[in-house]
Amino acid sequence: MTKEKTPTPKKPQLLITGGAGYIGSHMCVESLQAGYDVVVLDNLSNSSPKSLAAVERITQKQLTFIEGDIRDDAKLKEVFSKHQFDAVVHFAGLKAVGESNSEPLKYYDNNVHGTLRLLEAMAEHDVKTLVFSSSATVYGMPEQMPIREDFPTGAINPYGKTKLNVEVILQDLYASDPSWRIGMLRYFNPVGAHASGEIGEDPSDIPNNLMPYVSQVAVGRLKELSIFGNDYDTHDGTGVRDYIHVVDLVQGHLKALEFLATKPQLSVHNLGTGTGYSVLDIVQAFEKASGTPIPYKMAPRREGDAAKSYADPAKAKNELGWTAQYDLERMCADVWRWQSQHPNGYSE
Ligand code: NAD
Ligand code: UDP
Repeated sequence: MTKEKTPTPKKPQLLITGGAGYIGSHMCVESLQAGYDVVVLDNLSNSSPKSLAAVERITQKQLTFIEGDIRDDAKLKEVFSKHQFDAVVHFAGLKAVGESNSEPLKYYDNNVHGTLRLLEAMAEHDVKTLVFSSSATVYGMPEQMPIREDFPTGAINPYGKTKLNVEVILQDLYASDPSWRIGMLRYFNPVGAHASGEIGEDPSDIPNNLMPYVSQVAVGRLKELSIFGNDYDTHDGTGVRDYIHVVDLVQGHLKALEFLATKPQLSVHNLGTGTGYSVLDIVQAFEKASGTPIPYKMAPRREGDAAKSYADPAKAKNELGWTAQYDLERMCADVWRWQSQHPNGYSE
């Protein structure tokens, strides 16, 4: 007698746009480990496929990689026809604030037009669950801290405006068709790396952001850090930010997917720890984690920088059941493991 086989239930499938990038590759690890099937769509404009090979080594699981652009309608049609996605996690986009000032059209095209193409393809193929990478930059220069989701928005640079524009588009889309399930996540300052040291942040140019700059000074790629302003109204005069470990951040995405599964809705959540650290706090913590002195000099303020920015993470805690787990010491230790094992990132 042959025993009837129970079919294995199909794993939920995610499309991760920008999945080869810094945050996306960490999302690939955590979602494969959480039992999702993963398809990555990335044009590799700011990443290397080596990150995805590392994801497979870390997880001992396979993902599907499709090299392509979210603005390519034919490619999207092919991808959505071939796979039955349960949700899309949308990281693909450009993120350099300075470059967005000098090349705004490139940013609107990639981030806004690209997202429109993706939304059209999703609607056409009846995939109506989306988690979108927004940013704390949509709050502009808030006067009060900590920052709550109901604070007024008002981005001050083209990059931030592309994020705000997409948020507005998503609100209009949901208003027109409330069967969508849309989670907009406003990230504070993602740092850190996977504990394996196999994937991490790998800026293609001189880093604009503090943590990769500091870690490249520590590893000897850059000479010294310039601290942009020491006369802010903060505990030591240097700028204060809410640094969040990238693994905590992507865990927030998994929680958002669970939350969206409960009912159609449009939601917005801050992903931050709620604690602010200054530039000098970061320098000190990184020196401790790496055992290396970080030479620095004081420099003028950077245009457009707020003195302080840190989240009120209560809404994410109450609604998503999510809170950040990793402290600053762990963030620096993980960045250092990645940077010291891969002094030249993926390009060695
Ligand atoms: P990243 O540059 O490492 O990753 C983005 C990925 O998207 C890259 O792999 C790139 O090749 C890909 N990509 C870009 N344009 C594309 C296109 N048109 N089609 C297909 N792929 C494309 O950046 P990240 O730090 O991982 O950021 C991911 C998302 O999170 C971005 O949308 C970014 O704006 C947002 N975000 C990042 C931060 C941060 O500090 N890292 C903060 C807030 C929000
Ligand atoms: N910063 C700095 N030197 C650098 C890069 C950044 O002093 O080379 C400061 C910056 O002024 C801010 C903080 O570090 O106070 C975090 O900057 P980052 O660009 O990482 O994040 P954002 O300002 O976009 O939140």
